[in-house]
Amino acid sequence: MVVRPEIVVDLAAIRHNVRVLSAHVGGAAMMTVVKADGYGHGLVEVGRAAREAGAAWLGTATIDEALALRAAGDVGRILCWLHLPGDRFAEALSSGIDLTAYSLAELAIIERAAAGIPAARVQLKVDTGLSRGGAPLGEWRSLVDAAVSAEVRGSLKITGIFSHFACSDEPSHPANDVQEDAFRSALEVAESAGLRPEVRHLANSAAAIHRPSAGFDLVRCGIATYGLDPAPLGFEAHSVCTSTNEAPPMVELRAKGGSKPIPDLKPAMTVRAPLALIKQIPAGAGVSYGHTWLASQPTTLGLVPVGYADGIPRHASDRAEVAVDGVRRPVRGRICMDQFVVDLDGDDVALGAGVVLFGPGDQGEPTAQDWARTCGTISYEIVTRIGGRFNRRYVDQGEQA
Ligand SMILES: *Cc1c(COP(=O)(O)O)cnc(C)c1O
Repeated sequence: MVVRPEIVVDLAAIRHNVRVLSAHVGGAAMMTVVKADGYGHGLVEVGRAAREAGAAWLGTATIDEALALRAAGDVGRILCWLHLPGDRFAEALSSGIDLTAYSLAELAIIERAAAGIPAARVQLKVDTGLSRGGAPLGEWRSLVDAAVSAEVRGSLKITGIFSHFACSDEPSHPANDVQEDAFRSALEVAESAGLRPEVRHLANSAAAIHRPSAGFDLVRCGIATYGLDPAPLGFEAHSVCTSTNEAPPMVELRAKGGSKPIPDLKPAMTVRAPLALIKQIPAGAGVSYGHTWLASQPTTLGLVPVGYADGIPRHASDRAEVAVDGVRRPVRGRICMDQFVVDLDGDDVALGAGVVLFGPGDQGEPTAQDWARTCGTISYEIVTRIGGRFNRRYVDQGEQA
C-alpha cells in the first residue's frame, strides 16, 4: 500500500539506459545530462548511476548544478553551458569543471576568472541555427581567434567545441542537415586556426539515436537517459512554422543512415499516491471546480491527494488517466492545487489503494509520454515539474540489461 505521495526512481533503469545508449552510439563518448535536478530524478543520484554505467561526462546547465555534483563527491569530467554575470567562475574552474563561452565578452570574463588557476578548461559553443545560446556564425571566427590567443597566453585550455540542434526530435527535418553542415564548417574554422579540441559534440538524445552522422566524439543524452522517447513523433511530417504560417517543406521520411535498432529504453520514474477518500455521488452531480464534468449516472469517486502545486499539470483536467490497483481510471473535473478526482465507476476499491499516475507502462499504467500527449506538451516538462510535496525514493531493481 502506498503511504505517501512518492516519486520512485529506478537507478537500475538509469544505468541500463546509459549502457544501451552508449552501445548504440558506438565510438562516441557519453555525456549524461543531469540539469534541472536530473530532469526531476535527482542530480546527484542520477549522476552517480550514470558514472557507474560508464558516462565519461556529466552535463549541467548551471555552474551551481556542476558545483553541487562536485560537493557530492563527483570527480569526473563535467561541462556546464549557461552562465550568469557574477557566477562562481573561478570556483568552477578550480574545481575542474569545463565552462562554456558563447561570446568574446564571456570568454574574457572566464579568462579573468582563470588567473592563477592551472588547466582552466573552456568549451566554445557555436550557434548553427537554434538561435539560442552560442556564437552566431558571423562571430565564430573572432571567438575562435580570441580562444587561440588565450591558449597561447597559457590562461585557458579549449577542450571542446559544440552546438545544439533545433529539430532533432523530427529526424527528417531539413534543419538537421543544415546544422550539421554548419557545425562541420565551424570545426574547420577552429582547426585551421589551431584549436585542437578534445571533444566535438552536437547530438542530444534524439540525434544520438536517430542521426549517427552527428555522433562526433561525444553525445549529450538527457531525456533518453530517463527512459523517455526523445522523438515520439518519429519521422512524421514536421510541425508547421507558426510564426510565418509557411507550409512545412515536404521531405522524404528516412532515418539518416540509421540501420541499428532503436535502443530499448526503460522509463526510470514512477509517480504514485494513495487514495485519500472514496465516495458515491448521485447522477447529475458536478465534479470539481467549474463543474466541467457532470456524472450522467451515480458513480464512485476516488480522491488523489496531489495537484498542480505538486507538478500535476492542470491541463490534464478531464483528460488524463491513472491506474488504480492496476486498472485505468479517468480523471474527472479539474485538477486542483492539492488534489484531483478519479472515476472508480462504482467498483469496490480500498481506501489507500495505490494510484499510479505514470510509470514505465508495463503494469497497465500510463507513461509520462501519455501525460505529455494528453496535455499538449513534451515528456520533459512532465518529469521535470513533478515535485512539490512528493517524497522521492530510490530503488534499484538490479541489472536488467
Ligand atoms: C538539455 C540539453 C541536452 C540534452 O537534451 P535531450 O534532448 O534531453 O537529450 C543536450 N545539450 C544541451 C546543450 C542541452 O541544453
